[in-house]
Amino acid sequence: MTAGILDGKALAVSLQTALKREIDDIRQQSGAIPVFANIVVGHDAGAASYAKSQQRTAEALGIDFRFLHLAATATQQELTEQIALLNNDRSVHGIMLHKPLPEHIDFQAAVNAISVHKDLEGMNVTNLGEMFLGNFHTVPCTPAAVMALLASSGIDPAGKDAVIVGRSEIVGKPLIHLLLQKNCTVSVCHSATSKAGRLAEHISRADILVAALGRPGLIRGEWVQPGAVVIDVGINSVAGKITGDVEFASAAERAAFITPVPGGVGPVTAVCLMKNGVELFKRQIGLGV
Ligand code: NAP
Repeated sequence: MTAGILDGKALAVSLQTALKREIDDIRQQSGAIPVFANIVVGHDAGAASYAKSQQRTAEALGIDFRFLHLAATATQQELTEQIALLNNDRSVHGIMLHKPLPEHIDFQAAVNAISVHKDLEGMNVTNLGEMFLGNFHTVPCTPAAVMALLASSGIDPAGKDAVIVGRSEIVGKPLIHLLLQKNCTVSVCHSATSKAGRLAEHISRADILVAALGRPGLIRGEWVQPGAVVIDVGINSVAGKITGDVEFASAAERAAFITPVPGGVGPVTAVCLMKNGVELFKRQIGLGV
């Protein structure tokens, strides 16, 4: 078997086209445009380049994507105060806090200070808790991208065995709830699964495999169940090249569908972030549900 490629770039373009149409329609009807505030604390070259690429995506969609730069020495209190100002600014519809942060800043505490109505990334504890209860108001964008790619494979997840490798707050844990909502049977593997030598055993049972561990090529193609859907979230830089967590060529021999890295989850994630923000914007101007 040679897997069909789940082309994230193509999916991102079609999602972006639909989103732009929606933003244009709202602007024509009401004159309003979405405004997102991005808080950056200190300077990190990689993060700055990622934020710039998000800004290009946003501006192509007609979103006002602003930056608020704070010095690396800013305190948690100062950051919280800036977030409070943005929460109270009716012209701002979405707020995002960029990582990495200086070590003295507690990311989760800061994100919890962002109004639940303006939480672009869906990482506020209230939004995460709502997801636990089955209410998917604002969903973290990488897991949302995984679900969009899975939907594009045309495979119904109901009753299938899904295995997620990685249990981070930003990817693995929220994805559990999104897959459960689609009536999947979900297993989650992590470093202790590997240490126990049981990763291959779990993966070989996966109808849907999501790799989000950040270990280049650690998931061997021979572990993949024939006919599985493989979604590789990993982004690793190896000798100047970006690679995923799954051995692509050998996994593609067995899988029914597989995402490439780069060009899989990444481009869809960027659009899911914008979609989150547009939903928040619509609710704030009285158009959302
Ligand atoms: P993270 O916070 O470092 O979490 C990694 C997870 O993988 C942890 O749960 C860890 O287990 C598990 N793990 C590490 N080594 C393992 C091993 N040998 N066997 C099994 N599990 C192992 O990482 P993250 O933020 O979720 O990111 C994961 C990857 O996705 C990274 O490559 C990152 O760059 C990429 N990413 C991509 C996007 C995108 O849009 N495409 C977005 C976010 C992240 P423990 O919990 O036991 O430590």
